[in-house]
Amino acid sequence: MLVSAKEMLIKAKAGHYAVGQFNINNLEWAKAVILTAQELNSPVILGVSEGAGKYMCGFKTIVGMVNGILEELNITVPVALHLDHGSFEAAKKCIEAGFSSIMFDGSHYSIEENIAKTTELVETTKKLGLSLEAEVGSIGGEEDGVIGGGEVADPAECKMIADLGVTMLAAGIGNIHGKYPANWAGLRFDALEAISKLTGDMPLVLHGGTGIPEVMIKRAITLGVSKINVNTECQLTFAAATRKYIEEGKDLQGKGFDPRKLLAPGYEAIKATVKEKMELFGSVGKA
Ligand SMILES: [Zn+2]
Repeated sequence: MLVSAKEMLIKAKAGHYAVGQFNINNLEWAKAVILTAQELNSPVILGVSEGAGKYMCGFKTIVGMVNGILEELNITVPVALHLDHGSFEAAKKCIEAGFSSIMFDGSHYSIEENIAKTTELVETTKKLGLSLEAEVGSIGGEEDGVIGGGEVADPAECKMIADLGVTMLAAGIGNIHGKYPANWAGLRFDALEAISKLTGDMPLVLHGGTGIPEVMIKRAITLGVSKINVNTECQLTFAAATRKYIEEGKDLQGKGFDPRKLLAPGYEAIKATVKEKMELFGSVGKA
């Protein structure tokens, strides 16, 4: 059964580790992430962007698929199904469809409008026992065609949103979606420290987890980051493994064209990436 991300993140914050959010794109992705979490006895959050939601034939399809996997494979670790960077409308759709966790990204609105919309969703999600992630200040890079400027969130605005009663808070600290440019300045630990001080027990979320050096990830966790989003890295390792299979001509040997064979190396690559991240974040054995 899907669970809210609240309890796993409170435990992570108190235990000084982070839970990974891995974005899914299809059955192979969902299965790879869930089975790795089960094998490592780790809590996990499955992220679904609006674009991925459309690609997978809508939010209800995803809820059905993920619930089916949890039941049929006897999954016992905590798994949350989370809308990633949702609009207000998508948040409502996901609540209806049966997601256990929602991100409402109101960072592109004025702080007043972000507060008003987040407040409404706090009420709805609390009633239903779902977790809610809010965002302050845009995070750099591109996600589903939206480009941010690598902003750093204002700690006072972070406190305002945290005080609304959200479960976790995404705050820009110089992180970027996608691949990091060679001239990237690194995470702004001064900003993270200030946000952490003002928001107290609030689990903080680090987006754009692909390509941030391990020492920075570890330092961010010690400063209050309890959820780290990984998306691009699984895509890169999946693509590289699939490319290798085809370049080696394996799809032309015997029944190598069978999709279950063709997609297997990519599937294994996602599993390896998820394992590596769970070990780095410290969530192994914390289910
Ligand atoms: Zn993000």
